[in-house]
Order: sequence, then structure tokens, then C-alpha cells
Amino acid sequence: MLWLLCGPCGAMDSQALVIRIKIPDGAAVDWTVHSAPQLLFRDVLDVIGQVLPDATTTAFEYEDEDGDRITVRSDEEMKAMLSYYYSTVMEQQVNGQLIEPLQIYPRACKPPGKRNIHGLKVNTRAGAGSASEALPSNSLKKSSAELKKILANGQMNEQDIRYRDILGHGNGGTVYKAYHVRSGKILAVKVIPLDITLELQKQIMSELEILYKCDSSYIIGFYGAFFVENRISLCTEFMDGGSLDVYRKIPEHVLGRIAVAVVKGLTYLWSLKILHRDVKPSNMLVNTRGQVKLCDFGVSTQLVNSIAKTYVGTNAYMAPERISGEQYGIHSDVWSLGISFMEIQKNQGSLMPLQLLQCIVDEESPVLPAGEFSEPFVHFITQCMKKQPKERPAPEDLMGHPFVVQYNDGNAEVVSMWVCRMLEERRAQGAQ
Ligand code: ATP
Ligand code: MG
Repeated sequence: MLWLLCGPCGAMDSQALVIRIKIPDGAAVDWTVHSAPQLLFRDVLDVIGQVLPDATTTAFEYEDEDGDRITVRSDEEMKAMLSYYYSTVMEQQVNGQLIEPLQIYPRACKPPGKRNIHGLKVNTRAGAGSASEALPSNSLKKSSAELKKILANGQMNEQDIRYRDILGHGNGGTVYKAYHVRSGKILAVKVIPLDITLELQKQIMSELEILYKCDSSYIIGFYGAFFVENRISLCTEFMDGGSLDVYRKIPEHVLGRIAVAVVKGLTYLWSLKILHRDVKPSNMLVNTRGQVKLCDFGVSTQLVNSIAKTYVGTNAYMAPERISGEQYGIHSDVWSLGISFMEIQKNQGSLMPLQLLQCIVDEESPVLPAGEFSEPFVHFITQCMKKQPKERPAPEDLMGHPFVVQYNDGNAEVVSMWVCRMLEERRAQGAQ
């Protein structure tokens, strides 16, 4: 194996960023970057060009904590990669682990001739038989399958969770960003105080079982739940872009792709005979990979009831028939879908005063101002918000609606780039 390094045995000084460029034949080159904040996508391509002079490289990839490869093609995507990498470094520091270099995989290149370039020393690590042996195993890159195994053994418990930042407070609970020690995974943990009997706790745990079976890229991953004293903790996949309620006036080509994912997520839940019951922007999550996932759907009647007993459970996204206490069905989720997307685009505060809820029951549905939005979008919202539940689109009609069809092209990059840009803007505003 060819093992190239710059710097003394690739040791990291505390300020520098070490990027390990993985070469297709198993070798690797470590590149020490001393001014990481100024690093541009172009700079990385230039260095890859030096390492692989015979190849044309236009992009590179890195691996997320599940071992999935993420492509980087722009400065924005590179910022997302660096922010992900620094979060893994933070975890490694907290756990006293060796800080691992950032590994990247050049893409679209021809097999390079083995070459040692200026400034790169050959590492003669004794016994390094293969690249994988030579590299310390990254505890943060446990596969999803491995994580599922850990969780299936009932190992999700309070002792293994390190609570970090508060992501938000909701109606009844607080959501934390947390670190799961055993799997090395970052989680979102929702903690809800509930004063209920042991019997009810058991019932909730059994009702939550179905979440382990939910397997859709449009539904938030569920890792487990446990009770400690009078509170339940629900552990789910962490979404680094947060929820849609903090994003306003989303460009329609981005919103369209988000809407497609939300419709697919709902259609998946309905196919399992699960009604969401709480469709709203704060329960639609996005990440820098361009994924959009639904969370907080009502799989456990007992959990929903227990929360409702403690907290007022009315919100502005509820369908008129639900506010008047009539039967709840798929059509009621469709109403909430329509009003959620309308709210996001109307650039207003997310919750209406309670007295306005009565207007939803008594008066005509609100409509989007004409001229400001595309005709298919306005039509989509208007159809979803028909007063009569039966007049709203059925699941197959939602998927076939021109607004959804137009953006159903699987282009996650559009959402990814937009999330990265928004996060960058937020960071810049926070720094001011
Ligand atoms: P409600 O309790 O009525 O559902 P809510 O959705 O605003 O209201 P929570 O569900 O408690 O409240 O969520 C609080 C906030 O935490 C959300 O607004 C969202 O920004 C954030 N959040 C929730 N789940 C995740 C997650 N998996 N990844 C990242 N952020 C999350
Ligand atoms: Mg929520």
C-alpha cells in the first residue's frame, strides 16, 4: 500500500484541519490546512488535482455517520461538510477519543498512477497492511444496521445519552440535541413530563412499537423510547436543518420539492393506516443533505391522550371538522398540509389566535393572494383547504396534482443547497 502523509506522521496540531484524501487504490494523502475558514471548494479540487494529476476531478465525497457518501460540489456543500466534521470532532474531544482527519473521496477520476508528490512523505507505518487497517476505526460511523442492533437489544437508556443543546420547546415537551454514547450517534431526544400510571406507560411503549417498523426516507428515524420517573424520552434522528416553521417564504422550486417529500411521507403513513394528526411546519424537518422528513405523528393514542390531558391541544392547523369535534380522517391531514404550506409562504407568525379558529369553522377558507404565487401552487393549496373534507384531494390525487408532479424529480440537491445557504445566513446573522 502506498501511504502518503505530510507533516510528522500526520499528527494534527490543535488549530489545523487535516483532510485525508482517499485514493481509489486504497492509499491516502493527508493534507494539513492551516486556515480552514478560508478554504474554498476550488482549493480542495486543486490539491486533489496534485494528488491525482491524471484524473479530472469535479467533485468529492465524504461519509456521514451512517457511512452514506455525500457529494460536495460547491462552497456551500463544503461548509455543510465542515460543519458536520467539526461536530464529530467535538464528540471525539468530549469522549477523549483520537481526533480523526476529515476523509474525502475524489469523484469522477480515472485510476491514478501511483505517485509521490512534492512535500508528501511516504509513511512507513510498520504492519499497515491495508488502508483500513492503518486507519483508526471511526466510532462515529456506525452503520444504521449496527445502530438498529444496539437499539433492538433494548440498550437505549438515559445513562447512554448526553444531553446537549435545547432544539426547541413544544406543546408539552422539550427537544434536545443529544449524543448517544454507545452508537456515537447524534440524536434528537424529545422529553415529555407525564404523570401517568405504570400500566399506561406500558401501553404507550407497546403502541410506539410500530415506529420501529416505519421505514421511509420521508419519515424521521425512530431509535427508541424510555420512561424515567414521570417523563418519557423519545429518541429520533437529528435533522441539522431543523423544522420548517423557522423558514419563511421559501422559493417555489425549493418548496415544491419539500411538498413532494411531505406528500410522500403522509402517503406512506396513510398506507400503514396511521393518521398524522399534527401536520404543521414545526413537524416537517429538513437537513443539509436535502432530505425532508415528517415527525411527531400520532401513533400512540395513549400518548396523545396523556399529553392532551396536560396541555391545550388546539392549534391553527386543525381542519374545520376537527375543531367542531367531528370525525378525523385522512382529509383532515390534507387540510393541515394545505394550511401549513400557505402559512410558510404567507410570511406571517406561525400560530393564529384561538378566536380565529372559529373563523376557520364558520367562514370561507383563506386564500393566497393572486399574482404572488404560481397557479399550480395556489390550486394545490385551495384544493387541500376545501371546507368539505370529501372535496379535498385523496392521496393518489395529491401525488398526481400538477404542483407535485412538476417537482417530483428526486432532486434533493435543490433543498440541500437552500438549507445550507439558510444555515449559513443564520450563522452570519448570529455572528453580528
Ligand atoms: P408541538 O409540541 O405542538 O408538536 P413543536 O413541534 O413546535 O410543537 P416540538 O415537537 O417539541 O414542538 O419540537 C420543538 C422544536 O424542536 C421543533 O420546532 C424543531 O425545531 C426541533 N426539533 C424537533 N425534532 C427535531 C429533530 N428530529 N431534529 C432537529 N430538530 C428537531
Ligand atoms: Mg413537533
